[in-house]
Amino acid sequence: MVVYLNGKVVSKADAKVSVYDHGFLYGDGIFEGIRVYSGNIFRLKQHIDRLYESAQSLMLEIPMTHEQVTQATIDTVAASGLQDCYIRLVVSRGVGDLGIDPANCPKATVVIIVDTISLYPAELYEKGVALVTSSVPRIPMKCFDPRIKSLNYLNNIMAKIEARRAGVPEALMLNVDGHVAECTADNVFIVKDGELRTPDLMQGALGGITRQTVLELATEKKIPTYEGVIGRHDLYNADECFLTGTAAEVVPIISLDGRQIGDGKPGEMTHALLAAYRAVRVLDGAKVEYKTEAATS
Ligand code: PMP
Repeated sequence: MVVYLNGKVVSKADAKVSVYDHGFLYGDGIFEGIRVYSGNIFRLKQHIDRLYESAQSLMLEIPMTHEQVTQATIDTVAASGLQDCYIRLVVSRGVGDLGIDPANCPKATVVIIVDTISLYPAELYEKGVALVTSSVPRIPMKCFDPRIKSLNYLNNIMAKIEARRAGVPEALMLNVDGHVAECTADNVFIVKDGELRTPDLMQGALGGITRQTVLELATEKKIPTYEGVIGRHDLYNADECFLTGTAAEVVPIISLDGRQIGDGKPGEMTHALLAAYRAVRVLDGAKVEYKTEAATS
């Protein structure tokens, strides 16, 4: 693995940031998680666009242009030699003093980590996964817009702890009105009477790149889609349910809070969309040109 840190590509051991960095002190920063499939950085443009949108909302000045971040990401993947890997792009407010004021942080810290990730085991895609609803609601938009992919994940982490304690890998998060928002690190979809449905982003969900890809694939397949208000009742009574995310891709859900969803097996539309996603993930994105000696690793 290799790390880009403020303009230099360094080894893991040398990838160090200050304890005065406000990313560390206050979670003041943003990030992206991106996958590389056979040397294709999947939907890199969309990830960089989302990074800059998060930065804009937080008044966080990224000390590089859009093009420079894109090129640095491609170059760091090339330097790693990894063809199938994960990129963690982090921009923090940078080094400041012990107060929260970002005005005392003159320059943002830019980090691009290229590494492998642990994935859900293949059998989860075959058998499907159970979910529970978290007692922790998703942060309301009035407090902090969940569309910002910030370094503050404690709301989601509280829900993840509940999931783990219940013995399941993910938890469903509702918004403060009791409507379905998303999961701790994934968006959620249901299928009902042939229609694909997902909460709209104003319900308190991240605008997932995988979510958007799946909506586009559904449109290509002439599957009707709906983005709007969804209740837990809709999930309990759905024909199919699945999660989407960069790490998860498309994961079938077979129960929620002990209620079986559909026939308790991954559904046909879920399978079709996962297959379509797996076909597009090597095509749509930025291609990496590896140096020949690195490409063999
Ligand atoms: N919601 C949350 C809270 C997330 O952190 C993520 C990313 N892991 C997602 C949804 C899915 O987004 P994407 O498809 O862009 O990975």
